[in-house]
Amino acid sequence: MGGLLLLALGLAGAGGLAYAPLPRPITLPGMEAPAPPQSEPATPYKPLEGMVDPVRVLLYQGAQPGKVRLVEASSPSFCPPPPAAGENTLWLDTQRLESGEFDLASKGGSYTLSASADSLLEWQGRPYRGALRLERTGGRMAIVNIVPLEDYLRGVVPEELLSNALEAVKAQAIVARTYAVARRGQTEALWDLTATPSSQVYGGVAAEDEISDRAVQETQGLILTFADQAATQTLYHSSCGGATEGPPYVYGTPAVPYLQSVACDDGRGGSDCQASSYATWRAQWTGRQLGEILAKYWGKPTKSVERLEIAERGPSGRVSKLKVQLEGGEERLLEFEDIRQALQYQRPDGSWASLPSTKFEIVAAGKVDTDPQGSDSKGADVEQSSEPLGLPQPAPLLSLVGQPAEPAPAGQAGSQASQGEEAPALKEGEILLIGHGWGHGLGLCQWGAMGMARRGLDCLQILERYYPGTQVGRAADWAQP
Ligand SMILES: [Zn+2]
Repeated sequence: MGGLLLLALGLAGAGGLAYAPLPRPITLPGMEAPAPPQSEPATPYKPLEGMVDPVRVLLYQGAQPGKVRLVEASSPSFCPPPPAAGENTLWLDTQRLESGEFDLASKGGSYTLSASADSLLEWQGRPYRGALRLERTGGRMAIVNIVPLEDYLRGVVPEELLSNALEAVKAQAIVARTYAVARRGQTEALWDLTATPSSQVYGGVAAEDEISDRAVQETQGLILTFADQAATQTLYHSSCGGATEGPPYVYGTPAVPYLQSVACDDGRGGSDCQASSYATWRAQWTGRQLGEILAKYWGKPTKSVERLEIAERGPSGRVSKLKVQLEGGEERLLEFEDIRQALQYQRPDGSWASLPSTKFEIVAAGKVDTDPQGSDSKGADVEQSSEPLGLPQPAPLLSLVGQPAEPAPAGQAGSQASQGEEAPALKEGEILLIGHGWGHGLGLCQWGAMGMARRGLDCLQILERYYPGTQVGRAADWAQP
């Protein structure tokens, strides 16, 4: 083990492609390479039998599954189905259907729909590669897309990181592949992954993009490994705000050797993710507003918040324990990611959302302008600003509309608009957090990966930073844990 990575890093240093694209199709543990029945047209068509490295992705659960339609494939599959499927044909299990459309509720039991190599299955206006399996469990129906791993990744990578920074997208492809491989077949459920952020967002063919297709192809079959096994916890997030964090300070779960706090340092006094519009953000409430927000979160009457106090931080500066002192002296504790869920804040566009991250400072009233610019890109360097906010009087109720405006995040394009701007004036009793980054802070920082790619670093160097101690290897060579 390790030869591939060492070799690859050596090549990467010379600026070339770190590894050659692998021959297709690839073979993963337990999967046999397909044997297309080319010379035996009489063999009954079995849609799933020849599929390369399938993963099962849940698209839908409910009572109204709708219809599936055959549509023309505008780009080829990386892992085409066996040729026995014919042309422009919709298959219901092994039965060839006359029509190119099928009402999923019209048939009982569980069954598989598949399309010939020149066609795709369209469901709810979105085309999918592979097959669609309808599973009936109790009174409900589930639609599961059974799709070759590499084709699945083409529908995931652009949903998770749409960027023209190829090396960052390649790192994302390896991480997303590792995540999928580690979860395949791990449960007794009828699917391995969902199509939502609870696994990885998957948009099928509609999501596919030239850069991410290239990233998937150039990293084909490659996953992250640790201690001779596929790494199972290749988590990632949008922007770390200067430093990533370890699980004990994000979820209160045991440490993972390759998920440590690492600096997202660009070597020029800033961070690689400082182009994110969440490099610096603000959240502001009156004590009474925050009491009302927490009342909803806790599901019980809650008095005004008089004071927030940071009880524990992780190495990156993320708040892992936060004391909430209420009017009358009652004190409660918020921990880990619950802090983000509990402290709903109003964004500049007026919508409400969870706190972008737990990497924040509490800015006391009257001390707002202590450090408007200096702390933005120094992730871990926030300890000195963590004074609790003392509020001697219950705050007056202000309408939410009356809040001072926050600088607007600039969306995907990213900007530093929120950095260094004048802090809004605070009224007595108001609470202001200034924070950094967006997401849980574990593993790969996507904005940081893009920053590294734009500095000329390659995907292996990106992965080395965010998952220290891991190696890159072929999925086929490593056993799953
Ligand atoms: Zn970062």
